[in-house]
Amino acid sequence: MPAFALAPEQAAWCAELRALATGRLRPLADRGAPGRVNRPLLAGLGQAGLLARLFDSGALDLCLMRESLAQGCTEAETALALQGLGAHPVHAHGTPAQRDRWLPRVADGSAVAAFALSEPGAGSDAAALSLAAEPDGDGWRLTGAKCWISNAPEADFYTVFARTTPGAGARGVTAFLVPADRPGLTGQALEMLAPHPIGALDFDAVPVTGADLLGAPDRGFAVAMGTLNLFRPSVGAFAVGMAQAALDATVAHTARREAFGGTLRDLQAVSHQVAEMALRTEAARLMVYAAASAYDAGAADVPRRAAMAKLLATETAQYVVDTAVQLHGACALRRGHPLEHLYREVRATRIYEGASEVQRSVIAKELYATAPKGDR
Ligand SMILES: Cc1cc2nc3c(=O)[nH]c(=O)nc-3n(C[C@H](O)[C@H](O)[C@H](O)COP(=O)(O)OP(=O)(O)OC[C@H]3O[C@@H](n4cnc5c(N)ncnc54)[C@H](O)[C@@H]3O)c2cc1C
Repeated sequence: MPAFALAPEQAAWCAELRALATGRLRPLADRGAPGRVNRPLLAGLGQAGLLARLFDSGALDLCLMRESLAQGCTEAETALALQGLGAHPVHAHGTPAQRDRWLPRVADGSAVAAFALSEPGAGSDAAALSLAAEPDGDGWRLTGAKCWISNAPEADFYTVFARTTPGAGARGVTAFLVPADRPGLTGQALEMLAPHPIGALDFDAVPVTGADLLGAPDRGFAVAMGTLNLFRPSVGAFAVGMAQAALDATVAHTARREAFGGTLRDLQAVSHQVAEMALRTEAARLMVYAAASAYDAGAADVPRRAAMAKLLATETAQYVVDTAVQLHGACALRRGHPLEHLYREVRATRIYEGASEVQRSVIAKELYATAPKGDR
């Protein structure tokens, strides 16, 4: 499948998803409390079959869903993505019992998933995480804190990355599936620039056993990185969707806004900026599709491609949304304007799932690792 062109049926599916976002999902999102988990919206995504698709299709389909939903309803896009991020480790590494208990409910939207990697003292440097898993009888007790965890504290279960071997860096991390009702697990919601369900978690000797493991002890960092390799291009897809929405709004606005005896589009300084927005959005889209297709094909260079796609697309979307605001003038900054929302929404994508600087480090590391020996 050439990554640079969607098949007609894929393009038609994207159009259906955009219509679903603006038609059925937008009203559900509007009725939700800003910055809180929206269960009716999740149920709507489940009824439309999109949550199940997180598990029975590949990275490119994930990107197409995120890009298309983002154009009409960023809240729906984010709700879908967070279910995938939290539940993918269960899908990929869970036991039959874990999968049977949780995945059908994730797919119909009745159970909310979350991915708990970041801590107050370990964000970009995730391998430095310190949430302790201390041996206790047949299992462990989890003690410590997680921070900036999407869907916390309202999620029904958490994929938690904890330290089983002190001092071992990435090689001493274990992944656990922790149901939210475990004793000792509490949390608080956090308010962000753009409404986003997110919070901090406190673990006070939370009991876990071998039945809660996701993968083998001390192998949890690979579970986290494997999940991020799948989701990073799709963060880029979310960004491309927002950039496209900003571009569409700008084409419409500059074509009708009257100024200097014509419309804004008649000013070449304006129309060339619109052309630049379109150019960069399309370039980012192609890189996202290529990275996702490489993931689906099992290519060897997925970490580099995923990092490139996430980096280019999120930085591009920031530029495009900012330019869209500029070309709209004051109306875009009015509270409630779609661009005011996108302007706040786009910012976090350059930070989460690896800040732009971290993506550059991933790219450089792989370049040097594969360089001919004489050039090192
Ligand atoms: C909206 C949102 C949702 C999130 N959801 C989740 C979630 O569901 N689960 C989860 O586990 N985490 C989540 N996070 C946390 C996110 O992954 C972290 O914020 C991110 O990894 C960066 O960590 P930090 O914020 O601690 O910044 P730090 O690690 O302190 O970094 C701050 C800045 O330093 C610079 N920097 C850091 N490292 C390097 C480097 N190696 N080279 C050069 N410069 C560098 C970058 O500019 C970076 O932005 C979320 C964050 C946000 C904003």
